[in-house]
Amino acid sequence: MFDVITGSIKSAVNKVRFKDDAASLKKATTELRKALLKADVHHKTTKDLIYNVELRTKELGIGQNAFLKALQENLTSILTAEGNQGFVFSNTPPTTILMTGLQGSGKTTTTGKLANYLKQRKKKVLIAACDLQRLAAVEQLKQICAQIEVDLYFDDIEKDPVKIAKAAQEKAKKELYDVLLVDTAGRLAIDTELMNQLGKVKDALNPDEIFYVADSLTGHDATKTASSFKEQIGIDGVILSKFDGDTKGGVAISLAEQVGVPLRFVGTGEKMPDLEVFIPDRIVSRLMG
Ligand code: GDP
Repeated sequence: MFDVITGSIKSAVNKVRFKDDAASLKKATTELRKALLKADVHHKTTKDLIYNVELRTKELGIGQNAFLKALQENLTSILTAEGNQGFVFSNTPPTTILMTGLQGSGKTTTTGKLANYLKQRKKKVLIAACDLQRLAAVEQLKQICAQIEVDLYFDDIEKDPVKIAKAAQEKAKKELYDVLLVDTAGRLAIDTELMNQLGKVKDALNPDEIFYVADSLTGHDATKTASSFKEQIGIDGVILSKFDGDTKGGVAISLAEQVGVPLRFVGTGEKMPDLEVFIPDRIVSRLMG
């Protein structure tokens, strides 16, 4: 999944015959810049990364190893944005998570995947079907929940997602569920009315965390919308869906650097088990080859 960027970084650095002079460093950063942009890393992220790698290489003493070390340090620091990876349980169950994202991002599928991940870890999980925006979303969740054998709270009559969410949380508390995952309305773009609705669900539930599902195939748009959600509603983590697709990998770096919230999981396929905890070191090693 990182083949474009991996190949490019390695060949970028290998192209340069390093001497301990500023000219070699200049050549190496030029090659690296090209490689990062080709891998779809945002131009601002690329600019900042190059600046920091240059600075650190000079500190270490210019040379190929110093350059690679500086790059590795900087990539690690970007991808380990402050916060946690994977899932964090609240001390007072049920851990309540709001699942947010644009329509088509994979939010509903990812909600199922996360429930499946938790169920395999022997957790009692309830999903609340509060995406009343897309007609098929509740039906889709019914099928997913039947498949993974996880309980679903839904209400075919009630039209207010806040009431459904609240009732689901009461059930989760009363029946001692470990985790409540709330699937919220998807939207085609950032939309004030739906953002207000999400705000009301958030206020009613006081969730432990809000996850944003970002479609990695949407490149820089994923970064822009994640930033808007962060500003308007607050998000605690990003799940990068469709990472198995034709992605160049740069989106993970841009998202982590620009949105400033940790990447928690990656979606690696359409099936329920296709969810992996995002582990920065593993990705950096792949990047560096
Ligand atoms: P929602 O509108 O955000 O709820 O989107 P859905 O959950 O319905 O997903 C939209 C499409 O993306 C579906 O066809 C999913 O199977 C697919 N999808 C979701 N996550 C992944 C993933 O990690 N990899 C791949 N290849 N497809 C995914």
